[in-house]
Amino acid sequence: MTEQNLLTIENLKKEFVVEKTLLGKPTVTLKAVDGVSLSIAKGENLGLVGESGCGKTTLGRMIVKLSEPTDGRIVFNGEDITHLDSSKMRELRKSIQLIFQDPYASLNPRMTILQAVRAPLDAFGEGTFQERKEKTIQMLEQVGLSREFIDKYPHEMSGGQRQRAAIARAMIINPKLIVCDEPVSALDVSVRAQVLNLMKTLQQERGISYLFISHDLSVTHHLCDRIAVMYLGTIVEMAEKDELYKNPIHPYTKALLSSIPLPDRDHKREKTSLEGDVPSPINPPKGCRFHTRCPFASENCSFNVPELREVKPGHFVACSLEKN
Ligand code: SF4
Repeated sequence: MTEQNLLTIENLKKEFVVEKTLLGKPTVTLKAVDGVSLSIAKGENLGLVGESGCGKTTLGRMIVKLSEPTDGRIVFNGEDITHLDSSKMRELRKSIQLIFQDPYASLNPRMTILQAVRAPLDAFGEGTFQERKEKTIQMLEQVGLSREFIDKYPHEMSGGQRQRAAIARAMIINPKLIVCDEPVSALDVSVRAQVLNLMKTLQQERGISYLFISHDLSVTHHLCDRIAVMYLGTIVEMAEKDELYKNPIHPYTKALLSSIPLPDRDHKREKTSLEGDVPSPINPPKGCRFHTRCPFASENCSFNVPELREVKPGHFVACSLEKN
């Protein structure tokens, strides 16, 4: 961990018990996150990509303390936050916020937009009622929602407007880190770019860091500085975004990127196809977890677990092909 790191995760794990004996002893567990280590610097945006069910949302939920890790460590702003009591958790809410895919998850349908966005200020008792109201109106204006929206209810607004309100709610207490879980995937393509640009502008103005969870690599390229690729609960590749897009090494990353055109037309990407479905995390493949779908798998891949290694400065890969 460096001094500039806002967040450091060390060997984080989350298991869910699927079946247990009558005496409560687990017999079947699902390893949703299985030993993830990464860091996010102050003001940095880290993208976390992978197919549905790879564990990225579970990882995000552990960071915002909506889910307790089974093992590992989370350090935020120099403090170990892996296990917190309720008073420290309340303090942490000021610094780490979450934006969901569905803005209804953070906007109470019985509250007006003004009430819903003001709620975090009310909860922390900041300023007078009038000051909180004015601050909320300013925040709404910053996300492009004028005063005419303040008395509307979430169901009276479009998806894009609701997500703008959810962003305002997450930003209003000036957090240091926002975990964004597929924040634009439910929006129309035309609105998506506007919301992404808004998030980028607010991040730059306020010096916030994002952990941006998405299945869409073109979206993360637009917003993020570095990208981590997740497969079946583990990180398989992590690098600065242009390095990852131009020189992907892991066959899974190559397959994910195959369908995304490069901005430079002279630079052709080698096609890597992805066969079959993601195996179940209840019984993941032994050795390299990707070997059942990997076009380059050798016999060794089915029993050797490749470590995440730095193969170039800042570029980490977990694949035995990169050992030599
Ligand atoms: Fe493919 Fe083997 Fe590399 Fe896994 S370790 S990605 S199976 S080549």
